[in-house]
Amino acid sequence: MYDVEKIRADFPILHRQVNGKPLVYLDNGASAQKPQVVIDAISHAYSHEYSNVHRGLHYLSNLATDKYESVRGTIARFLGAPDEDEIVLNSGTTEGINMVAYGWAMPRLQAGDEIILSVMEHHANIVPWHFLRERQGVVLKWVETDDSGALDPQAVIDAITPRTKLIAVTHVSNVLGTVVDVKSICTAAHDRGVPVLVDGSQGAVHMPVDVKDMGCDFYAITGHKLYGPSGSGAIYVRKERMAEMRPFMGGGDMIREVTRDTVTYNDPPMKFEAGTPGIVQTIGLGVALDYMMDLGMQNIAAHEADLAAYAEQRLTGLNWISVQGQAAGKAAIFSFTMQGSAHAHDISTILDKKGVAVRAGQHCAGPLMDHLGVSATCRASFGLYNTRAEVDALIDALELAHDLFGDA
Ligand code: PMP
Repeated sequence: MYDVEKIRADFPILHRQVNGKPLVYLDNGASAQKPQVVIDAISHAYSHEYSNVHRGLHYLSNLATDKYESVRGTIARFLGAPDEDEIVLNSGTTEGINMVAYGWAMPRLQAGDEIILSVMEHHANIVPWHFLRERQGVVLKWVETDDSGALDPQAVIDAITPRTKLIAVTHVSNVLGTVVDVKSICTAAHDRGVPVLVDGSQGAVHMPVDVKDMGCDFYAITGHKLYGPSGSGAIYVRKERMAEMRPFMGGGDMIREVTRDTVTYNDPPMKFEAGTPGIVQTIGLGVALDYMMDLGMQNIAAHEADLAAYAEQRLTGLNWISVQGQAAGKAAIFSFTMQGSAHAHDISTILDKKGVAVRAGQHCAGPLMDHLGVSATCRASFGLYNTRAEVDALIDALELAHDLFGDA
């Protein structure tokens, strides 16, 4: 039984007030809050178990290395990766996608080669591909969403040509909440010999992920949205792709031997992990993922599906609110605008006065904003600890904003 009140008790920040009101935290799409076990693990690591990893031959270094390295296995379990050596540890999705762009795509793609993107990608899954466009003439091909915000997998497949070298697509839109049928895309793309990168920043937060079943080549996650520390993350890289990838950053730990004239590299995945990593952040991420797996990803998904249905019903009941994206089975992420000239930033300021934290702006999704024909939206994004009462608090605060701004 999913006891949301018990779960909320695990998150100390949820008990604070903001502007004299109980915090209603609906900005989980940007960053989720941390349970006490994660906070304690960070404190414990720095207090009792801290040292640099991989290098030391002393007790603390070995201890820190064991703790840090064990997270690779935790992430592999969380993502259903067949082998923990397919997990590259990093600082988050942005680093993961850049690693693929520089290390895998850049040496392989030539002018005129194509990368297929959906129009709802986050800038982290756009700008690294623009680098390839600017620097080597790679062509970016965009697939639109339909009016509901759904992405037809067939439209992605239909965009494949003999020049297509990669499909890079989000699992869940950080703006619309649309869940993309990435498995169908991967299956059909592989039949045509095209690898698929999935941006799992939002997807892995809201539902069970099994990269083996999905069949993707790359799956990027970011720790701070997974109830873990910022500066932690990972990317699953299928073994065959790992073998094709060049190191993206050079430095300590990723080498086997360096001389004045030569360098040889460590085995993957270490080959792709240069320099001192986010040791404690990664340890914290491992604890966060264990926390989620203990709750059960199916249970989290079911709880959030209930919240999504309730939020959709309440938001669509306000005829002065336009919800962007109503694809079937969407995740509990709602972007909306208010009728009249009230700007998303003004609305979020009013909500904040009521203790309701939402995000306002473009959400790092410029092409999607253009596609929707809006300059900014407010976004309420729910997490495993949110409640129906918090949906009601959002609606009450929106009604206040509507009273203040009217249809002006
Ligand atoms: N992709 C998506 C869909 C996201 O929502 C985000 C975070 N807003 C990112 C990528 C980038 O994640 P990070 O900044 O943690 O690297």
